[in-house]
Amino acid sequence: MTISQLVLSNAAVRGDRIAFKDDDRAVDHRQLERRTRSLAGRLGAEWLQPGDRAAILLGNRVEAMESYIAIARAGAVGVPLNSLLSDAELSYVLQDSECRVIITDRANAERLRRMVPGDRAPEVVVVGDARMPEGALSFESLADVEAPAPPPRDDLALDDVAWIFYSSGTTGRPKGVLSSQRSYLWSASASYLSVLGLSEADRVLLPIPLYHAFAYSLCVGVLQAGATAHIMTGFDPDGVAALLDTGSYTFLAGVPTMFHHLVTAARRRDAAPAGPPICIVAGAPSSSELRRSWEETFHVPLVDGYGATELCGVATLNWPAENRTDESCGLPLRGLDVRLTDPDTGAEVPPSGEGEMWFSGPSVMSGYHNLPEETATTLVDGWYRTGDLARTDRSGRLTVTGRIREIIIRGGENIYPAEIEHVIARIPSVADVAVAAKDHEELGQVPVAFVVAEGGAINVQAVFDACRTQLAAFKVPSEIRQVDVVPRSGSGKILRRQLWESPTRLLGTADASD
Ligand code: ATP
Repeated sequence: MTISQLVLSNAAVRGDRIAFKDDDRAVDHRQLERRTRSLAGRLGAEWLQPGDRAAILLGNRVEAMESYIAIARAGAVGVPLNSLLSDAELSYVLQDSECRVIITDRANAERLRRMVPGDRAPEVVVVGDARMPEGALSFESLADVEAPAPPPRDDLALDDVAWIFYSSGTTGRPKGVLSSQRSYLWSASASYLSVLGLSEADRVLLPIPLYHAFAYSLCVGVLQAGATAHIMTGFDPDGVAALLDTGSYTFLAGVPTMFHHLVTAARRRDAAPAGPPICIVAGAPSSSELRRSWEETFHVPLVDGYGATELCGVATLNWPAENRTDESCGLPLRGLDVRLTDPDTGAEVPPSGEGEMWFSGPSVMSGYHNLPEETATTLVDGWYRTGDLARTDRSGRLTVTGRIREIIIRGGENIYPAEIEHVIARIPSVADVAVAAKDHEELGQVPVAFVVAEGGAINVQAVFDACRTQLAAFKVPSEIRQVDVVPRSGSGKILRRQLWESPTRLLGTADASD
């Protein structure tokens, strides 16, 4: 079924059940169908031709999901915008995608309109405010189900490009990932329905931003299962704890930093709500410590999933979780093939060897928007080269060991920041850690560790000792620096370039600690 068919079928089968709710309003399946029909009909009649792009910058609210669905029902292509992007990055994304329509709130309407030159200025649709900025269209009047509206096209084919999600831009400029409805529908069904058993009875708590493939694919799964999703407007550990305390949620999805904050807040209060039976962490590397502390505090397993925008959601799941104390992100979804290859030659590495993960299967993107060269180097004979290194154990479970683009080359030796971070993260006086390269006259680059203190002071000698006993000598960080907070993206990834812009205090150098 296409997204349109799903929405129509849910309206017929379970019309008065809540589909999506946020902190302010809820929409049942019948309203979702009627409102997205009106929006799609009106947008399609005047402002959106099939294949046109429409951007959404709304944060986590029901209208964002209505927009995603209505744009698909109009036969157009949705472009979710990451609210954490700088003005320069947003302007790049809007111009790169040549959006004809932007759906946003009043606070962002003028700013976004100014980002596109006058002759190509998109129509701006504004959500949630009676006073419309001049020249803007009102979302509520377009979604009005009482007044007659033209019918929506409802004819986007499963393999047409339906969404351009821009990648996080963690390692460079954000790239527009072209994805079809089939990719998202397949990914959501293979992960959430088939592996984790998402069903009509489930109530999903979703504090992650909808502009990420992880959150959106889970919402597609919610539509497929006929479940209910509470899209939280923002993440706050006490707010999540209060909702979990009601005992009505069965499914929680988040990025590693969120689970870490939930554990810290529960320990501070010395009381943890009952954890929902399914808790999934994805979007960035997580550690076995996080899993252990989650399970000790909340008494439910934490399922790790590896995913990427290019794979339209998660591609592996550590479930059933027989082996949850290791760093593994689990097995690939059934229907996805994975290959570990030598990053230089592309040849497959021997079993148990480390190699770059390549995936092929129905959830692999169709390419990058306007980037033919990047597409050709990233999609090879239908395989997506992830740029992530991994190894497998005998059962085929994958463990991600590093990111090729984040490699630090010290005097010709390769170092992956994640390796050092895993060692330092286990030290009790360390609350958070990130490793980044520093230029070095003789060695080219050296690793520097940025640490956040857990309460009191950091035992620097313990950090160096742990690195010296668990890592090769060339991987020991040259410096340990203290920061107040590790800068991270909405999906929990370390923003390494920003580490050097943060105020830091030098705690010790490897030479002095010998
Ligand atoms: P850009 O390509 O623009 O730098 P990005 O790759 O950071 O952006 P995303 O698609 O949001 O954008 O992130 C995908 C990446 O996230 C993966 O390639 C991987 O490096 C990391 N990742 C996601 N889940 C996990 C996980 N469970 N374990 C380790 N790494 C993960």
